[in-house]
Amino acid sequence: MPARILDGKALAAQVRARVKGEVAALSRRGIRPGLAVILAGDDAASRVYVRNKTRACEETGVHSQQIDYPASVTQEELIRRISKLNADPSIHGILVQLPLPAGIDAAAVLKAVSPDKDVDGFHPANLGALLAGTPRVVPGTPLGVMRLLEHAGVALAGRRAVVVGRSTIVGKPLALLLLQKDATVTLCHSKTQGLEEETRRADILVAAVGRPKLLGAGMVKPGACVIDVGVNRLPDGKLAGDVDFDAVKDVAGWITPVPGGVGPMTIAMLLENCLHAATR
Ligand code: NAP
Repeated sequence: MPARILDGKALAAQVRARVKGEVAALSRRGIRPGLAVILAGDDAASRVYVRNKTRACEETGVHSQQIDYPASVTQEELIRRISKLNADPSIHGILVQLPLPAGIDAAAVLKAVSPDKDVDGFHPANLGALLAGTPRVVPGTPLGVMRLLEHAGVALAGRRAVVVGRSTIVGKPLALLLLQKDATVTLCHSKTQGLEEETRRADILVAAVGRPKLLGAGMVKPGACVIDVGVNRLPDGKLAGDVDFDAVKDVAGWITPVPGGVGPMTIAMLLENCLHAATR
């Protein structure tokens, strides 16, 4: 039997509708959530991501302000602007689109964002709170993955979860969230030996690597829940995940498509984080 599809597009639409209602109620009380998005340089993919985020904001009633800088912007200029936004009462959330231009220390820039306005959840204070088991603002992509699992009713406690990819924005926080739900978590990366043996043990398998179709059917346990975070542009212009969807769908119990899986949930969770920032 082919895998059931975890439809991130449909679930994200439900989340956005709920957030829209809450934003309207908040606006009636005189608070309109505001998000500032900083985009530095001219990375084409970043431009598309920022457009999708600001469009989702406008559709939900969240005010969004896009601040563009050329690739020649300095770290000091970015930090100065962030300090002003930190002090601006009409702005509740600040998002710095990554990657930043070469030569800029992204960690220093992200650290300049007030933890209360850090709607991406990348500030060390927010990542630390997650590690401590007292999450405040959780990064949108791992939060979106958890919401998809919850929505599908996938049991986590005592089950084996394998996350492939250990980035600070996806793999690591997701491993912590799964651990908090009592899964037994393995975090794999480019130096992992015997990746296939690890992934084949997973009841819940998450790919967050950035390598098209890295995970094939032979790497998946029959009936596993497979979450594909990867977004890769193929030479023919089409998008592909890190999972070979067509092959794995015949083995897995659940699977997310790309596009239409984790991506829309990331944006929906960003909107939720903006709403929470405005009510803090
Ligand atoms: P990243 O920072 O480049 O991290 C990639 C991770 O994959 C690293 O931990 C790396 O290991 C590991 N890796 C690389 N090659 C591997 C291999 N052959 N076997 C096992 N592990 C390997 O990437 P990211 O920012 O986490 O993003 C990952 C993917 O998710 C990308 O395709 C990105 O576009 C996508 N993404 C999607 C969303 C969404 O909303 N859908 C959001 C964020 C990211 P090392 O640590 O050892 O280098």
